[in-house]
Amino acid sequence: MSSNKILIVDDSPTILSILRSYMMDAQFINVFTAGDYHEAKGILDNDTDYFMAILDLNLPDAPNGEIVDLFLSHNIPSVVMTGNYNEDQRLRFEHVDIVDYVLKDSPSNLDYIVKLVKRVYENQWVSVLIVDDSKFIRNKYKELLEVHNYNVLTAEDGQQALYVLGEHSRDIRLVLTDYNMPVMDGFSLVSNIRKKYSKEDVSIIGLSGGTEYSVSAKFLKLGANDFLAKSFIKEEFYARVTQNIENLDMIRRLKDMAMRDHLTGLYNRRYFFVTAEKQINDAKTNGGTFYVAMIDIDFFKKVNDTYGHQAGDSVIRVLADELKKVFSDEKRYSVARFGGEEFIVISSGSAQDGDYIEKIEALRKNIESFSVESEGKNIKFTISIGVALHNDEKNLEHMIKDADDCLYIAKENGRNRIVVG
Ligand code: GH3
Ligand code: MG
Ligand code: MG
Repeated sequence: MSSNKILIVDDSPTILSILRSYMMDAQFINVFTAGDYHEAKGILDNDTDYFMAILDLNLPDAPNGEIVDLFLSHNIPSVVMTGNYNEDQRLRFEHVDIVDYVLKDSPSNLDYIVKLVKRVYENQWVSVLIVDDSKFIRNKYKELLEVHNYNVLTAEDGQQALYVLGEHSRDIRLVLTDYNMPVMDGFSLVSNIRKKYSKEDVSIIGLSGGTEYSVSAKFLKLGANDFLAKSFIKEEFYARVTQNIENLDMIRRLKDMAMRDHLTGLYNRRYFFVTAEKQINDAKTNGGTFYVAMIDIDFFKKVNDTYGHQAGDSVIRVLADELKKVFSDEKRYSVARFGGEEFIVISSGSAQDGDYIEKIEALRKNIESFSVESEGKNIKFTISIGVALHNDEKNLEHMIKDADDCLYIAKENGRNRIVVG
């Protein structure tokens, strides 16, 4: 699936415009609309490349949900909006492959739909592993998950599951596992997964057909994130799967926030030491060399004093963006905001000394030609750089100190220059 197009079918212009505007902030999604069955059919006759649809169950020319069958026949995952919610309808949709059905009586429900759309869109990059010895069950869960756009992998027992997980560890975010299986059962699988992957890396939902409560307790104690009885209704299945994936997403976002500087999006000082240490070890084992460059904006206090703090922030951001561009190869460079207007770059690899220094000199010259616009004023600025080269006696701290000393000399000698130590 590569489409980013969604089709919304509703006869209420108000609903269409609310959903469209709610979806505006998800710029990756392209919204198309139709006012009735006839129009939707016309659209699908020409193009069925929609990753999802939102459908009004009661349309003027299709009052009994005929629109749902139309979209199902094209295999387009659909959310159904209905005016009334009752047990009859729930039972009707229990057996239809729709993403969800939502009562369209309040803005919060429309908000729910938009969240769902984003989730389903992002699920194209999420893999789920189903572990069950019954082929029937594996297929049933697979179908459910595919309606929500997940990539699905399957295994027949715990041992197979560990193998599949090892092969696809980057993509698998969730494991759904049965308890009773030959070769390796669900309990043993959970313990084995937890030896290698934390609850924040891979989420596990344990499932069992039995009625014994002790199975769910044991699953959770061994490290499963959640439990689901096999007699689940579809809505509960989706709710639990979604919640587990969203929890992992949230943890990833928090982790990312903790290691980045919020003004520039670069790594912060704390995280820099983690990546730098790893990069230096890699360089050493590969027999390569590395450098540390300290980069500091000249007379930055003056920028703040003359143009205001806001303008100062813009200058910092512009320099950070340029650093991201110049040192974009993450295998060779670690870049971080080291302090207020001070940045650090570690370079490793087989580059010749001259190559690296030339790159930094080009950066310095390029920055000279920049002009940052802030409230109608054009701000010019320059940078000074101290570079330390590695030798076997120096550890990272020594090198940072050496680069700092060189930076100090660059400042003393008139700024807007590089000093290599
Ligand atoms: P030098 O050429 O010697 O480096 O002088 P300088 O003025 O650049 O250096 P100094 O260390 O005296 O001043 C740095 C200033 O940077 C002081 C601080 O208020 C400002 N600063 C630090 N962080 C930020 C920030 O995030 N935004 C803005 N706008 N200013 C910042
Ligand atoms: Mg400065
Ligand atoms: Mg400074």
